[in-house]
Amino acid sequence: MAEYDYIIVGGGLVGSSIAYGLARQKHRVAVLDGGDRSFRASRGNFGLVWVQGKGANFAPYARLTGRAADLWPQFTEQLTGETGVGTDYQRSGGMHFCLDEQEWEERVEEMETIRAHTGDAFDYEMLNHDQVKQQIPQISDRVLGASYSAQDGHVNPLYLLQALQQGMDHHGVRYLPNQVIDKIEARQGGFRVHASEGVIAAGKIVLCAGLGNRPLGEMLGMDIPVVVDRGQIMITERLQPFLNLPTLHVRQTAEGTVQIGYSHEDVGLDDGTSPTELIKIAHRAVTMFPLLQRVQLVRAWGALRIMTPDGNPIYQQSTQCPGAFTVTCHSGVTLAAMHAGPVAEWIAGSLEQDLINKFSTDRFDVSQN
Ligand SMILES: Cc1cc2nc3c(=O)[nH]c(=O)nc-3n(C[C@H](O)[C@H](O)[C@H](O)COP(=O)(O)OP(=O)(O)OC[C@H]3O[C@@H](n4cnc5c(N)ncnc54)[C@H](O)[C@@H]3O)c2cc1C
Repeated sequence: MAEYDYIIVGGGLVGSSIAYGLARQKHRVAVLDGGDRSFRASRGNFGLVWVQGKGANFAPYARLTGRAADLWPQFTEQLTGETGVGTDYQRSGGMHFCLDEQEWEERVEEMETIRAHTGDAFDYEMLNHDQVKQQIPQISDRVLGASYSAQDGHVNPLYLLQALQQGMDHHGVRYLPNQVIDKIEARQGGFRVHASEGVIAAGKIVLCAGLGNRPLGEMLGMDIPVVVDRGQIMITERLQPFLNLPTLHVRQTAEGTVQIGYSHEDVGLDDGTSPTELIKIAHRAVTMFPLLQRVQLVRAWGALRIMTPDGNPIYQQSTQCPGAFTVTCHSGVTLAAMHAGPVAEWIAGSLEQDLINKFSTDRFDVSQN
């Protein structure tokens, strides 16, 4: 019998959530992670647990995200209960500002599409300027209004990662960093991974290596289309509380610093920053919150999103090598509660998941359309 039931490749938010979920179900799990120099979206993201705007082009994703957000309160309570590490999660509701009529109309259309996709389960309202100002007095007169969803919230993503790592430890997961994987062999009854640690065997394997999933997938007969998308984020000095809920572009952390972000760039595997993009981000933030004009910036960074061609997650079991899975997605913060729960159960085969089955790579196969 193999030493482990599951090998998880990748120890970011996705791999850690899946490993934690499987270990809670009493499976024996090893996580093979990369080194400090690998790309890690989990350490560079914005920390939103975000429903509004997700899945307008794919109804199952709208439903999946809504479920994830609804699972979050219980998920974080359990994780903190087991580890003593708080995640700073707040289900405070969230806003997406519209600066002109065109943005407003596009937003209404998108929100209505998502609402229809979820059979009205997605809960949102459009707020005019006065309604926004009532909740956020510091908002600029340039903001025409906002979409608001009570399902949205935010979290400290680094605390979340730390909590998941301690949660894995609590449930006996073996975590192996600095691994380079040379080869994965699919044999009857399991898989053998040739890594820096030596050969590690398990009954099943789950690829959660983010941008590393494409070459790993090829070793297991899976074509995993991964698209890179850089985002840049800035963080300010600590300010007095002025923003009691997150917005898509600006959020105030529990410590008082303000995170400013939301950019998309196609620059390949370059996770640096660029003044042009940072100026654009800062300009929009100051347009929304004039008080930000005079604050000190402490740091700026770039990080690479792990996207798929349609922006929606991939949950796939290899047909060529059954027992090999991949979870490849954006929004690994939001989806953490889903990954540690229903997706881990789907991988373990302990739950039939019609919803999750819709996320296979078959949807990219034009011959099936
Ligand atoms: C700018 C930005 C803002 C974002 N904002 C949000 C947000 O507000 N809310 C939200 O929900 N999501 C957000 N995201 C997305 C979120 O950060 C990611 O979905 C999530 O971090 C992905 O986690 P991951 O574990 O798949 O990938 P990663 O964090 O990249 O981890 C992959 C891991 O795999 C390891 N690895 C790679 N190759 C190998 C290999 N061959 N062998 C062993 N290990 C390997 C790496 O070392 C790494 O640790 C944002 C992302 C970015 C870039």
